[in-house]
Amino acid sequence: MSVAVMKQQGSHLEPELVSPILRAVEARFEEQIAFTEELVRFPSLRGQEHTAQDFVQRALSQRGYAIDRWTIDVEQIKEHPGFSPVTVSYENAVNVVGTHRPQEEKGRSLILNGHIDVVPTGPVEQWSRPPFEPYCCADWLYGRGSGDMKAGIAANVFALDALQELGYQPAATVYVQSVTEEECTGNGALACLQRGYRADAAIITEPMSETLVRANVGVIWFQVHIRGVPVHVLEATEGSNAILAAYDLIKALQGLEARWNAKRSSQRYFEDLDHPININVGKIAGGDWASSVPAWCSFDARAAIYPGEDPREAALELETCLREACREHPFLANNPPEIEYNGFFTEGYVLEEGSDAEKTLARAHAVSCKESLEAKVSPAYLDGRVFVLYGDTPCLVYGPHSENIHGFDERVSLDSIRRVTGAIALFIAEWCGLEKIS
Ligand code: ZN
Repeated sequence: MSVAVMKQQGSHLEPELVSPILRAVEARFEEQIAFTEELVRFPSLRGQEHTAQDFVQRALSQRGYAIDRWTIDVEQIKEHPGFSPVTVSYENAVNVVGTHRPQEEKGRSLILNGHIDVVPTGPVEQWSRPPFEPYCCADWLYGRGSGDMKAGIAANVFALDALQELGYQPAATVYVQSVTEEECTGNGALACLQRGYRADAAIITEPMSETLVRANVGVIWFQVHIRGVPVHVLEATEGSNAILAAYDLIKALQGLEARWNAKRSSQRYFEDLDHPININVGKIAGGDWASSVPAWCSFDARAAIYPGEDPREAALELETCLREACREHPFLANNPPEIEYNGFFTEGYVLEEGSDAEKTLARAHAVSCKESLEAKVSPAYLDGRVFVLYGDTPCLVYGPHSENIHGFDERVSLDSIRRVTGAIALFIAEWCGLEKIS
């Protein structure tokens, strides 16, 4: 899309500013990547996000944003319908928000959101290099959290920097949020909402390969605790093997997964996906001794649900499925497994088509990425649901191209980061308007 077209389609952005904004992104790009690498060096796994948040806080503070930093207080959010149960300490579950206030509030306000938490690395020997020692090779920046989503947090910060480089700032309030708990509960973004952060639109720079998320599944985390009867293996037939029983239950869950996937034809935006619903068994442990029939086995699983489905009802279906699988079992029939909800308990969402925010992003994207903006469905949890479902805010989940997120050798494309940062800078300029820095 040309600058002229951008103007015709109702842009409030001075066309003369488009090229300078993109050049300003380019001018600071090396610094932006160095900043992203710094962020990747912090191993901001669950329970240790606070040092990475210190870094973000410093960066926002140096830029003159007013800082709000707090530790999530479960008491304050636990009654919210979007709350997910918590089974770990929130001692280091820190949120940081930097606030920009204009001299005069003229434009539309904006939240730029990203999550600081990263998922575990898995066996480090399967990485080509240590996961928290970032490096660039050709068009890629490598490291755990590089794509998901420290590149996005950096893009939010440097998109604003690009405007500042030109002597401008947004003519509306902008909140830069760095939240935690996105990979396990979504309680970080929820805590921001509960604290009162609202805006006319939100952007979350998740690694969406330069597409916009149209619809997103809800997610439920659950643990299944199975008991057995421990005996010596020489009388194994007398016992009940909890590990083998876990296999039976997992099989039953796979059946449920197939039934839920079969419902996709009646779900708006999910009709054409092959396998939108994954019930993933992600962790398992059991038994104490090779020569004893195991008396216990526990596994952790994650299930997805369609937008509009109530996680409480889906949880009941999960429980029914497991109970039915126990019915034929000689021991479990009378000793059913315990089910515990220990994380995500969230609804999915749909971003309704045609919002002004989406149109603005489409224009910015077309100029910076030189192609039209495509929307797609995400089969993984996103904090977007907090804004859309509970904040009545159009939330644009949109970010750079990344590979192997949650896997080995996670990486994010540098060119894509550049294009996305340009698109966000143009979005801010148009959505918020600009004023000269005095
Ligand atoms: Zn993410």
